[in-house]
Amino acid sequence: MSTLKHDWFLKQVPGKPMGRYAHIVTVRVTDSYPLFQTDGELNTARVTAGIDATEPMTRITIFKRKQSTPERLVGRELLRRYGFISGDASDGKAETGADGLPICDYNVRFCTQCPDCIAYGFAIGDSGSEKSKVITDSAYSLTSYEHSHEAFTLNAPYEDGTMTRYGEVTSRINEQDHVTPQVIFPSIVTTRDLTENLFLYVVNNVMRTKRYGAQTTRTGRMTNHIVAVVLADGEIFSNLLFTQALYDALKDKITPPDPVNPQDVLAAAQRLIPDLLKQDGVKVDQTLMGKDLDAFLSDVSALDVKTLLEKAYADSRAYHEAWVAKTNKKK
Ligand SMILES: [Zn+2]
Repeated sequence: MSTLKHDWFLKQVPGKPMGRYAHIVTVRVTDSYPLFQTDGELNTARVTAGIDATEPMTRITIFKRKQSTPERLVGRELLRRYGFISGDASDGKAETGADGLPICDYNVRFCTQCPDCIAYGFAIGDSGSEKSKVITDSAYSLTSYEHSHEAFTLNAPYEDGTMTRYGEVTSRINEQDHVTPQVIFPSIVTTRDLTENLFLYVVNNVMRTKRYGAQTTRTGRMTNHIVAVVLADGEIFSNLLFTQALYDALKDKITPPDPVNPQDVLAAAQRLIPDLLKQDGVKVDQTLMGKDLDAFLSDVSALDVKTLLEKAYADSRAYHEAWVAKTNKKK
């Protein structure tokens, strides 16, 4: 971690908000046809196209959980892969699985101590909850809904390839709205009061997650380009403002129905971020961009995953002991 300010991070995750916001500024680009929908339709929002460009535009939105859940699941898969949490499902009673590892069953029985539980939060009925320290917000397509989606009729033919059986046409036809490839979603992942190890755990998840979408079978590929890491004493600009600022900056290069070149977006983001930060009114302690950012990201990629998880686990476990276990005992 040659370039990241280590000293900036807290040595322990505190029990109360301490105002240490580490932002991972990303530009997410679709590589295939993901589905981000609720009840069969893509989610959209009617907003102004840019800040200077005040005409209205309908944009595709990706809600928070559709961004954070796949990233969580990637991290949890690694925690199982490297032997930190059990592969067993919860039977409602046992705390450890047959493998002797803590059972952390997503949305069923959270272990309340692994990096995922502490960084992203959990809720277990009445018996306690932990607020997420990873904050995401809805992301908006840079280009309009009109030019960023395609409606597919998904056929589910019989094995012989036909859609008819006994003279009847199958009803297994379903029309669905998909996002098209190379659609751009500027998006900021904010972490609050995490230790450096837990922050790196989150960065690693963002870097590794390549599939997003409604459900496992309906996911599509997406690439997350990290364009900046910003350490500040408050939350920086919103996804919508970032998207609208990029729209203004790229106005000449947005020529629908042609796709926007992601490289143009990345370059524009680099130019815009310092100005956007100035307008935010927060104190920025570090902005990693360009070569410094590249050095940081290649350091993260080069990390030994098991060691990274071990360190993150030690930090989440310490928080568990200081704050989670204590509160449970009081009850
Ligand atoms: Zn857990």
